[in-house]
Amino acid sequence: MENASQLQSFREDVKGWVAANFPASLAGVDLAGLAGGESGARASDEVKAGMETWRQRLAEKGWGAPTWPVEFGGAGLSDREADVIGEEIHQAGAYNPIPHMTGMGVTMVGPTLLEYGTDEQKARHLKGIASGEIRWCLGLSEPNAGSDLASLSTKAEDQGDYFALNGQKVWTSGAHISQWCGALVRTDSDAGKRDGISFVMLPMQQDGVETRPIRLISGVSPFCETYFTDARAEKGDLLGNLNDGWSVVKRLLQHERQSQTGGRGVSMVDAEPLHVKAQRFVGVDDSGALADRDLRQRLVRNYMDATAHRLTAQRITDEAAGRVEVSAAASILKNSNTRVAQGKAELALEIMGSQGIGWSGDDFAEDELGIVREWLSGKAMSIYGGSYEVQNNIISKHVLGLPETTQKG
Ligand SMILES: Cc1cc2nc3c(=O)[nH]c(=O)nc-3n(C[C@H](O)[C@H](O)[C@H](O)COP(=O)(O)OP(=O)(O)OC[C@H]3O[C@@H](n4cnc5c(N)ncnc54)[C@H](O)[C@@H]3O)c2cc1C
Repeated sequence: MENASQLQSFREDVKGWVAANFPASLAGVDLAGLAGGESGARASDEVKAGMETWRQRLAEKGWGAPTWPVEFGGAGLSDREADVIGEEIHQAGAYNPIPHMTGMGVTMVGPTLLEYGTDEQKARHLKGIASGEIRWCLGLSEPNAGSDLASLSTKAEDQGDYFALNGQKVWTSGAHISQWCGALVRTDSDAGKRDGISFVMLPMQQDGVETRPIRLISGVSPFCETYFTDARAEKGDLLGNLNDGWSVVKRLLQHERQSQTGGRGVSMVDAEPLHVKAQRFVGVDDSGALADRDLRQRLVRNYMDATAHRLTAQRITDEAAGRVEVSAAASILKNSNTRVAQGKAELALEIMGSQGIGWSGDDFAEDELGIVREWLSGKAMSIYGGSYEVQNNIISKHVLGLPETTQKG
């Protein structure tokens, strides 16, 4: 592992590179929104061109997925160096859109492919993800299989050199804008519940795949119902062994949780920290402290929880000493990240009073409307990637070693 002075010199290089390469036309632009595909169509030509230049420059450095091997589009860097890149991009008020542009690609599909993929599969799929050119979705959940995922019933039948998929997936994030899908399917109906499942990869642009976007409470439609009617997945795109998809997906879900711990990678700069917002809306007393004492205490508690969460996530990363380590600790971090983020959104709304409940109209500033939507979409954090309660089950069983009682496993 690199020492402190090597890391500092790497930091200086990154800082210089970002200053020289982040396109001026993107300053202050909501790049996360653009990368997520929601507001891309409304962006100006100048912003779209800037975004493409920035994507290409990051991809050439291998910084879309910095820890992946260079031969697969990464930069072969350590986790700590990848953190430095994220931190310096964040410090510069910029944003690395590539992970976001790939949907589930960089955070989940790629790491699982690196572990389970054949050489041919890695060569075929990884570069397109690391460069931000190919977006992936994941077809795991079904109407009757969410927390109890192994109850899934979408079938894949052997047709010689390909599988024919039939069934319905639901809550498939980004399905309508993705080029590829990783799907969990039943390949042996006679085997035990978790034994007859396989993980296949298939292109989304084909006749047998139909997506119907679902509208969310926050007003956007980031996910879909996905229907497979004789959809085709090539045999060469079976990830892991036939009927061993449960091992593959367990690993994939660990990577998902890891990406939702909020401890690593990129985040947007807080346009207005919560205490500054509170001073603006609630006012200050004679000593300059926030006027509402009770609110002040709850604000401080949220800051302390956020700091404790961030430092714990950092310690766990450091203890892993550069290994690509995903463990049951990710369940703890996912839940604490959820609690801190949802608590912060509640506080923001409370601070803003009636300005915090607007949906549209001239009476509300753009950022006020954004905060309402953020509060609503944040509700999903305790559901996606395995619900809050299911994470608590994992913590009780795999971290605390408590006996299995109500949960199925
Ligand atoms: C924004 C968002 C994006 C998503 N993206 C995707 C995606 O891209 N691909 C995909 O496949 N899925 C996706 N999902 C689906 C997500 O994985 C499921 O919603 C989640 O696993 C819960 O399943 P469910 O909705 O069927 O709820 P259920 O499993 O029916 O759970 C309902 C309630 O019961 C509780 N519960 C269930 N079992 C237990 C238990 N054993 N012990 C204690 N409590 C329990 C849950 O905590 C929950 O409160 C997404 C969901 C959201 C909200």
